[in-house]
Amino acid sequence: MADRRSDVLVLGSGIAGLSAALGAARNGASVTLATKATQPEGASTWWAQGGIAVARTAPDQFKRDIDAASSGTSDPEALDVLVQNADAAVRDVLIETLGVDFDTGGNGASFDFGREAAHSEDRILHVDASTGRHIHEPFLSYLADHDRVEICGDMAAIELLEHDERVHGAVLESDGTVQPHYAGATVLATGGIGALYSRSTNPAGSTGDGIAMAHRAGAATADMEFVQFHPTVCVADGDPFLVSEAVRGEGAVLRDAEGGRFMPAVHEDAELAPRDVVARAVEQEHHRTGRVVLAEHFLCGGVDVDTYGRASLGRLYAVGECARTGVHGANRLASTSLLEGLVWGLRAGTDAAGHEPTEREGAVSTSPGSAPSEEFLKASYERLQRTMDEHVGLRRTPEGLAQALGELPTLKAEVDVHAGREAPRAVHELRSACTVAGLIVEAAAANDISVGCHYVTGTAEDASAMAR
Ligand SMILES: Cc1cc2nc3c(=O)[nH]c(=O)nc-3n(C[C@H](O)[C@H](O)[C@H](O)COP(=O)(O)OP(=O)(O)OC[C@H]3O[C@@H](n4cnc5c(N)ncnc54)[C@H](O)[C@@H]3O)c2cc1C
Repeated sequence: MADRRSDVLVLGSGIAGLSAALGAARNGASVTLATKATQPEGASTWWAQGGIAVARTAPDQFKRDIDAASSGTSDPEALDVLVQNADAAVRDVLIETLGVDFDTGGNGASFDFGREAAHSEDRILHVDASTGRHIHEPFLSYLADHDRVEICGDMAAIELLEHDERVHGAVLESDGTVQPHYAGATVLATGGIGALYSRSTNPAGSTGDGIAMAHRAGAATADMEFVQFHPTVCVADGDPFLVSEAVRGEGAVLRDAEGGRFMPAVHEDAELAPRDVVARAVEQEHHRTGRVVLAEHFLCGGVDVDTYGRASLGRLYAVGECARTGVHGANRLASTSLLEGLVWGLRAGTDAAGHEPTEREGAVSTSPGSAPSEEFLKASYERLQRTMDEHVGLRRTPEGLAQALGELPTLKAEVDVHAGREAPRAVHELRSACTVAGLIVEAAAANDISVGCHYVTGTAEDASAMAR
């Protein structure tokens, strides 16, 4: 396995982890980047289509658009950080360091800024309809050649090394071998939670590991009830395929089975309304046609962090989709996730540099664990996904959430029996998925106000709103 010590340990190789590694290495730190991905496609970043938004000459309007999409729930301080750093970070890292060749208007003089749903300006940089891979692949290559960065693929973090409210690294597993890696600071960048639902746009392996590890170590999470479902996903041969909002931004419309548009009656911006609004309208339509389906797409909440990605435990950072920065509030605006990962990744990595690693293990489990059967793993995922699909999806009810609250602990307890240092990676992933599902359900059950992605009917609040 890799060297067992480094100044900064980054977990995850999407845009957030790569940006954190770059920030830390630029600041003089030795960096180990461990990722369970075996190929670039293992990160959502690679799959991003529409692009990355920048502020251009209208930063205040950009902030207003993000805040409006979130129904006024974005954190103003986080918005300032995102928007003030957006253009400089994109220029510095993506254009000047990596040489990403964003599409131009045709004459090569100016970028072809696109527009997507709920954006009031043309501000999205893109490369064809496959922006993610055009950022991700050069980023990986650049860091692979960097003197102070070591990238370890097919290596999963399974537990944080926490002692006295400070994180000293993580337990890493590679090819069945498990050992601690000590670090001056640890950056979680483990991405999304698609595996909790039967349909997701995320790549396989999106089991919320970073959030689960942080929670077990005692770090705070926030906004976990805000799970975003993408409104325009087609299913071909069983695989969900996302039809990007850029397509609607270019003028595509949504039609019902009879060929009529249904969005103008739902929202004044019709097909360009915020994602949560379009998702609920499409879901209603889906009941009639069965053509366009919804899929879990993005978690707005996560490990609670400040404007430098610092979590509530010492020397622990979280960036990208596994973090809750406050930018997205209750609902994310399209094409702001890559940007958030880039901006927070750089800030966290820079801040994380400068600490010597110390060998403190903390109270990490020493039980060996066991390998359950394939049938157990499959059946457990089916139970988890059925519960999340039925009760913790786009529309929720207090009764459904109560049922999920009853079912999930039983499943988690059955999975926990197998968890231990020597257990196969699949057990740790399933355990993470169950842990994060529990956090989502608890947060959803504790919030009876419908806002953004959290839409709950049948509450006292709902009844009084109907009466009004
Ligand atoms: C189909 C699709 C289209 C999208 N389009 C856009 C778009 O146009 N614009 C936009 O802004 N956003 C878009 N998004 C959202 C955006 O791509 C993601 O939110 C963002 O890329 C997340 O970046 P990340 O670095 O946080 O996580 P990811 O890119 O998902 O990377 C997570 C990494 O962590 C690794 N990992 C996970 N667990 C562990 C562990 N235990 N140990 C070690 N490594 C681990 C994974 O292998 C992976 O390498 C899209 C998402 C999808 C799925």
